Amino acid sequence: MPMSREFQNRLYPHLPEIAAEFGTPFHIYYETEIRATGESLKSEFGWNPGFREFFAVKALPNPSILKIMLEMGFGFDCSSLPEVYMAHQVGAGPDDIMFTSNNTSRHEYESVLANGGCILNLDDISFVSKVPEPFPELICFRYNPGEKRSGGGFIGKPKEAKYGVRHDQIVEAYRLAKNLGAKRFGLHTMIVSNELDFRYFVKTVQMLLALVEKISKELGVQFEFINIGGGIGIPYRPEQEQFNLTGLSRQIEQLFRQFHESHGYTPRLFMESGRYMTGPHGVLVTTAINRMSKYFELVGVDACMSALMRPAVYGAYHQVTVLDGNGQPKDALSNTPLSIVGSLCENWDQFVNQHSANARLLPDIQEGDLVIIHDTGAHGHAMGFQYNGRLRPKELLLCQDGRVVLIRREENIADYLGTLVFEPKVLRL
Ligand SMILES: *Cc1c(COP(=O)(O)O)cnc(C)c1O
Repeated sequence: MPMSREFQNRLYPHLPEIAAEFGTPFHIYYETEIRATGESLKSEFGWNPGFREFFAVKALPNPSILKIMLEMGFGFDCSSLPEVYMAHQVGAGPDDIMFTSNNTSRHEYESVLANGGCILNLDDISFVSKVPEPFPELICFRYNPGEKRSGGGFIGKPKEAKYGVRHDQIVEAYRLAKNLGAKRFGLHTMIVSNELDFRYFVKTVQMLLALVEKISKELGVQFEFINIGGGIGIPYRPEQEQFNLTGLSRQIEQLFRQFHESHGYTPRLFMESGRYMTGPHGVLVTTAINRMSKYFELVGVDACMSALMRPAVYGAYHQVTVLDGNGQPKDALSNTPLSIVGSLCENWDQFVNQHSANARLLPDIQEGDLVIIHDTGAHGHAMGFQYNGRLRPKELLLCQDGRVVLIRREENIADYLGTLVFEPKVLRL
């Protein structure tokens, strides 16, 4: 189920007014539901006193959103210096940030530690020697099980993915860190994305707890936390089921209980949900600007893949709702197949492509209609680019108290030109 009934009822009647005030296109996020999803995570995993969500900043990197996360007690999963910087700017402390980077330079580690600090999550055994001195007291490694697990989505099969420490290196990695002075340990993995089957994550916890047991035994250390990463899926298609969070929680609780019985302590459970936290709670609102008839029927809207790459890049399905001028959804489907396209000079630039796997029947769309593209609250705006000079749109927040707030303006030509150098730095050879 894409956009919830509640979000639709809250938004649609006001959308013509919001569009008139701010101008389309824009992403709009719904604070009430972001908080409700966050609270449901906290209450489902309340049995683990140290449970914490580290919101994956890359999914929706906007300080207004990050503040909401921090208010709920969440930390941040960051993978670049700018993301760490933004997290610190909204008030995150060093314990609130997991730096889950990959292919990281020594300089990058120095920068993130110098700029307020964070928990380092090392992606490779060789990175131990890239960590600046003094070696942090708390250290984490990202584990890749290789052939032991299937996986996929955008991450690839574990064995073919570029992430994480190999199984046969993992004990050695912790040994090296311990010898350099680490005293507190965490274990991380992320091997799947947009996964709707909760049992996959149960297996991941099982795998991590077994590994914690093995490493603890060999090195005589305890683990402060395990982090199962992100990757909890959302149903983009209306016929897909919601992720069973309760099922996940119950089964993980069992595993933690067994672990406690054997080892006398329980690690904290961390996760880094991005998509699950914000994905369904945002939509891209566009206006139909052209109704065209070529070798097929198409509607041009005023946004393009710079606002949402997923359909173009992955052929991803995003539900579409069309509103008439009064904010009423058009329910009746037209028998004529329609594609919804942007204006980039790139044929993949289609939100609905009737020649692809995301084809479906749509209501009739006329020039001036508002066309709403669902589930853009994560990996939407953030993935956009400036290719072809088609700039990224604004972002709005529909707040709990009913205000609609501009939280990012649209890009302009000055932004587009901003990095160009008109008095070039020259190296003469
Ligand atoms: C992208 C990413 C996440 C978030 O993934 P979602 O699919 O949005 O939940 C979490 N952790 C790491 C390390 C990531 O790269």
